[in-house]
Order: sequence, then C-alpha cells, then structure tokens
Amino acid sequence: MATQTQTYSTEFERALAENERYVAQFDRSALPLPPGRKLAVLACMDARLTVEDVLGLRTGDAHIIRNAGGLATDDAIRSLVISQRLLGTEEVLVIEHTGCGMLTFEDEAVRHDIAAETGADVDLPLHAFRDLDENVRAQVDRIREHPWIKDVPVHGLIYEVESGRLKKVA
Ligand SMILES: [Zn+2]
Repeated sequence: MATQTQTYSTEFERALAENERYVAQFDRSALPLPPGRKLAVLACMDARLTVEDVLGLRTGDAHIIRNAGGLATDDAIRSLVISQRLLGTEEVLVIEHTGCGMLTFEDEAVRHDIAAETGADVDLPLHAFRDLDENVRAQVDRIREHPWIKDVPVHGLIYEVESGRLKKVA
C-alpha cells in the first residue's frame, strides 16, 4: 500500500498550527457549561465583526449564535431556546451591521444563478433585506414574541464596521 501523503490547504495548516499555540497557553479548562454572563448574542457572520472583542467577552461568558445577517431564523430560535431553557441565559443581544452583504443581493437572482450552475432546484430562502434598522427590529420582535422564548430583555444593535461603535435600534 502506497504511503498516503495528506495534503492540506495552507489555510488549514495555518489554523492547526495556531491551535498548537493556543493549547500551549490554554488556562480555561475548568469553566462551567452555562455562560457566566447569562448572555446570548445573535449576530451576523461578517468577518469584520468580532463579537467577543466588541462586547468585551471572554471564553465562557456568552452564547454567540451567528448566521448570514444575524437573523432570528428557526435554527437561531432553536439555539436561543436551548440557551435559555437548558443553560440559563437571561438576556439577548441581536447585532447586525453596516455594509452587510445581505443588503447587496436579491434572493431570486441568487437562487436563479445557483439553479443555472447546478441544475438543481433551489427553494432555499436566503433572507436578503433592504433596510438595516427595520430588519434588526424585525428580528428583535420575532424573538420577543416567540412562544418558546422566555420573557427576557432583547436588545437590537447595529455595529458600524467603519467606527467599531454599536448603535441601539431596538
Ligand atoms: Zn452581515
């Protein structure tokens, strides 16, 4: 049997090497499972938004749920339900941001492109939106009004990628 040479991408190699450095200085092995600050954050996945840095959060402090847009999708709600009911979080922050990619396309056009490229039907809701403030408020409302979500403070914020500042909108 020939020796198998495993080839990894440069990026994957970098990530594994970085983890070795992380392990060498790791000192957080005794953290409890429930988030220490009883906080859950729902945020956009945008690479320019590092939720931990923006909010001064450390490992063990909060649940951070991220997706394209920072939307209260059914799966985000699932995570919030688990966060609240099983792990005791008592406050929710929703963070969207200026310059979001979700403001730059129309669902139908992207679905059409994927279908043309793959030959597969695309019924995936992408949830693009046009008004940032309005969209944040809609996510906050959905969380506040959801029957499975606890009656806890839910805040809506917009992160300005240009300044690093958070603006409260709901
Ligand atoms: Zn975004």
